[in-house]
Amino acid sequence: MQQDQTSAPEWEFETLAIRAGHRRTHEQEHSEPIFPTSSFVYGSAAEAAAKFGGEEPGNIYSRFTNPTVRTFEQRLAAMEGGERCVATSSGMAAIMATALALLSAGDEIVASRSLFGSTVSLFDKYLGKFGITTRYVELSNLEEWEAAVGPSTRLLFAETPSNPLSEVVDIAALAEIAHRQGAWLAIDNCFLTPALQRPLALGADLVIHSATKYLDGQGRAVGGAVVGRDKELEEVFGVVRTCGPCLSPFNAWVFTKGLETLNLRMRAHCENAGRLAEWLEGHPAVARVHYSGLASHSQHELAGRQQRGYGAVVGVEVKGGREAAWSVIDATRMVSITGNLGDVKTTITHPATTTHGRLSDDQKAAAGISEGLIRLAVGLEALEDIRDDLARGLDALV
Ligand SMILES: *Cc1c(COP(=O)(O)O)cnc(C)c1O
Repeated sequence: MQQDQTSAPEWEFETLAIRAGHRRTHEQEHSEPIFPTSSFVYGSAAEAAAKFGGEEPGNIYSRFTNPTVRTFEQRLAAMEGGERCVATSSGMAAIMATALALLSAGDEIVASRSLFGSTVSLFDKYLGKFGITTRYVELSNLEEWEAAVGPSTRLLFAETPSNPLSEVVDIAALAEIAHRQGAWLAIDNCFLTPALQRPLALGADLVIHSATKYLDGQGRAVGGAVVGRDKELEEVFGVVRTCGPCLSPFNAWVFTKGLETLNLRMRAHCENAGRLAEWLEGHPAVARVHYSGLASHSQHELAGRQQRGYGAVVGVEVKGGREAAWSVIDATRMVSITGNLGDVKTTITHPATTTHGRLSDDQKAAAGISEGLIRLAVGLEALEDIRDDLARGLDALV
């Protein structure tokens, strides 16, 4: 019988995405099996005792471990180049579990200002209650990071590239700043995925994922993950096992199958986004396009060096403020008007009144969220159809 091989050190990224973590059952199934079970049974009292006591490896209860979840974890760990991955019930649960595992009262986080909104709420409203404080700095400004880090800083947290302006930070330089202080660097790698950016190889200690986005890629399930070294991940695992934000086997299976096409999808997303960004930049109704793949982007060179592609999120500032932006959105007939992203279907939103609607006018100005800004998360429909759908509203403005 052919041996089951779940991973090999020499396998390329494309192979890991399709084969890492897959173990067949006795049925010899070709695709990954799902184990929708809350708990596991034993052949004897002695076996149960050995499993519960940790003398024998094995599953006990699906809040702790589950074979389907393990397949997803092993595959994503291999793709990110981490020793271990812990899957969670959402991307937010991944960030919460990381914070609970690594931080204590009195510790400080230094984070980029342009973070996902719920991450800011988690840091300020909830971690703040337990004496963990967060300072915010400009993502791309290394001097600001350096100045904000102090003796109590335990964690640096960044989302690169940022949403929706596609700003980036030099991950290797940021890791140096963190490590000089004995702090961890965590990168939220949701927008690029390991197909386009591997933060651990650049010196980051932890990678955070909302699997809800590109890892699934088709908008079917909510989930998350943390990837890194065994040492820190054992602590994260302890939090998930005890506090319970575990990933369901079914969602883990959806994400595992999503990973198999991740590389192809991300390349196609980048191709469509790049060509659309170029077209938008030349349109007379457009004031500015924010996409790090464009030569006009101030960090084009750094993004090209640190990433294997520029991603699919494109910020477009139209001339004429909110009224013009809304008219372009309302003239579409195909793209989905929604704040979500990371899907084969193109989505469009007006950040100032949706994803960033809770910010004050000053905060919006500081974050570069103007009233004329539209965010596109470019999907995999034919480029011509996406372009035509946007041209209807844009052409009417000139
Ligand atoms: C969506 C998102 C999250 C949160 O993930 P959920 O799966 O919705 O909990 C975190 N970070 C980024 C960058 C996101 O886009």
